[in-house]
Amino acid sequence: MPDQLNHVAIVGAGLAGSLMAIYLAKRGHRVEVFERRGDPRRGSAGEGRSINLGLSARGIRALRLAGLWEDVRPHTVPMRGRYVHPRDGEPFFQPYGQDPTEILYSIRRDTLARVLVEQAAPGVRFHFDAPCTGIERDVPALTVTGHGRVTPDYIVGADGAFSTVRQETHRGLPADFRQDFLDWGYKELHLPTTDRLEALHVWPGERGLMVAHPNVDGSLTCTLFMPYAELAALSDVAGFFRRNFPSAAIPYVSAQFAANPVGHLVSVRTSHWHHADRVVLIGDACHAVYPFYGQGMNSAFEDCVVLDGCLADHPADRAAAFAAYQRARKPHTDVLADLSEDNFLELRDRLRSPLHRARKRLDTLLSRAFPGHWRPLYTMISHTAMPYGDALDRARAQDRLVLRAGLAGLVAGAAVLAAWKRRRHVQ
Ligand code: FAD
Repeated sequence: MPDQLNHVAIVGAGLAGSLMAIYLAKRGHRVEVFERRGDPRRGSAGEGRSINLGLSARGIRALRLAGLWEDVRPHTVPMRGRYVHPRDGEPFFQPYGQDPTEILYSIRRDTLARVLVEQAAPGVRFHFDAPCTGIERDVPALTVTGHGRVTPDYIVGADGAFSTVRQETHRGLPADFRQDFLDWGYKELHLPTTDRLEALHVWPGERGLMVAHPNVDGSLTCTLFMPYAELAALSDVAGFFRRNFPSAAIPYVSAQFAANPVGHLVSVRTSHWHHADRVVLIGDACHAVYPFYGQGMNSAFEDCVVLDGCLADHPADRAAAFAAYQRARKPHTDVLADLSEDNFLELRDRLRSPLHRARKRLDTLLSRAFPGHWRPLYTMISHTAMPYGDALDRARAQDRLVLRAGLAGLVAGAAVLAAWKRRRHVQ
């Protein structure tokens, strides 16, 4: 069937599903989206369930290409770096990059979801309170509560880390699947403040880590990450905050803590990402990562751009388009999963370490000395659209260069010293 006449059913009106709907509607597809939750245009997800997100270059590029960035931007607050609050000692600011354009943008998840649905709505049919309970991958068909059996030309599974579409697509077939739960969980807390600092606040602690994203009203949305068991068992909440995060004066902290749920942190790696030309997965459904590189949504948005490009490249062969999409994305999202795990350790342990801060300073010096040639890994991941794997390869090559230059410096130093000693001996 010609590409334009496709009827697509997207499962999940989360961040990836709604953006993909916009891309596919622009392509001329008839798009229906089935979402188990209520309509985000009717109200907020509520405190404790929203979580702010950091939009970075990849996500912004995907929004720009869809013509949406100017609609999203007014709801964001720029973050120019990290403002670190050590428990003992003065807070300090670490800019994200040398270039003033290297910034992240904080946005509330529910706001972003609402804007995407609003922008998609004219060309896309959304069905809310409509959970998909199963799919028949070879037909393809999906069963949706309140809508019965729906038979589109193909299904996009954008239903998040615990995807029903993924499970049903892989059922009974040889498929790789790995799901890891971090033994840390998280809790959202609200901190009204007027500090207007354009930064991601970070409180590294012995028994937990807290970050806070700025909101457009000047308040901060804090996310406390802690070992899951300790988070669930914490009793003296006010005392815990006084001891561990003395500079974060969160009002009614015990009440907020009791009212808000504990979130889980999960990472998913899987293959295959598609079934013939009938089903394809995007976003967390095929590559959920721990949130510590702030790239889950950004990479999900990047999927939309790549999948759209593959459909354009293979207008008469959707199976080839889906296969090309998986080939283009999976090696890089696997790298992102590793980097996200590593960044958890960095935020938890290394942020306070003098060695880590020296390394950051060296990165800054080198990128100043060799602009355009030396780029810290974080910069390449967060402020460019370079594929994740390529960014890691380049960072490793840079590290080898520094190591070799350091060794060469040591060898040269030793040779000069030896020559000087010999001369003294002869004299
Ligand atoms: P989701 O956003 O999970 O959307 C899936 C949608 O599918 C949901 O609306 C769900 O209700 C719906 N659904 C599920 N099952 C069904 C069904 N059976 N039928 C119908 N609908 C269904 N990423 C960043 O880029 N930057 C950040 O700063 C960042 N911070 C984060 C902080 C935390 C604490 C967490 C947990 C994550 C963070 N992320 C961040 C990751 C980001 O939230 C996810 O990667 C992103 O939401 C993935 O989008 P998605 O659309 O694939 O999945």
